[in-house]
Amino acid sequence: MNVADDKTIVREYFNSTGFDRWRRIYGDGEVNKVQLDIRNGHQQTVDTVIGWLKDDGNLSELSICDAGCGVGSLSIPLAANGAKIYASDISEKMVTEAKDRALATLENAENTTFAVQDLESLSGSYHTVICLDVLIHYPQEKADEMISHLCSLAQSRIIISFAPKTCALSILKKIGSFFPGPSKATRAYLHRETDVVKILENNGFAIKRQAMTKTRFYYSRLLEATRK
Ligand code: SAM
Repeated sequence: MNVADDKTIVREYFNSTGFDRWRRIYGDGEVNKVQLDIRNGHQQTVDTVIGWLKDDGNLSELSICDAGCGVGSLSIPLAANGAKIYASDISEKMVTEAKDRALATLENAENTTFAVQDLESLSGSYHTVICLDVLIHYPQEKADEMISHLCSLAQSRIIISFAPKTCALSILKKIGSFFPGPSKATRAYLHRETDVVKILENNGFAIKRQAMTKTRFYYSRLLEATRK
């Protein structure tokens, strides 16, 4: 499968069955046990990022690009804390849902912009660029290009998450229990941390903070890197 195929499949998936599935997972309605586990794991990743940014104490001064924003799980709380948010996603349905949730939740949605755009075509310059749980949809070579492009948009900092390529996870993926259910419609790519760090370093960034979220069905390695 070539890279163009991956992207087309991912876009179509998140505009159809993937949209319904992930909107439910990233919501608060009833879901099955596996989906609940993934919901809780993902929320931990989101909470870690919010915690880091709040700890720095300057959230309201920041411009933040949330690339592959999904339904706005991160963008909306960051906007509620005063950050200027540029959120975008390749899936029109995800972006529409994110906008609706922002309007329903935020007292003032003026500091948020939502756009349907793949992250490879994003332009502009932001204090912080964040990309959570998107790289899992792309092979390493493509992920390298995506990370490099995101680095070029970041004035000071980039925060990314990915499913780490560890022995245990590779075995889980092989026996098919990783991301079980209909999400098997897309491939899940694992990435070696050393590869991701090398790309960040080659783009002039150094790792500052890191975290790992691990539940039964959700694995996400989170890296924050700042300009050297
Ligand atoms: N970052 C969000 C979060 O953590 O809540 C959403 C994560 S969801 C698993 C992956 C998202 O990445 C989907 O909304 C999908 O449409 C989006 N996506 C996939 N490939 C993309 C690309 N090339 N550019 C922008 N968004 C993309």
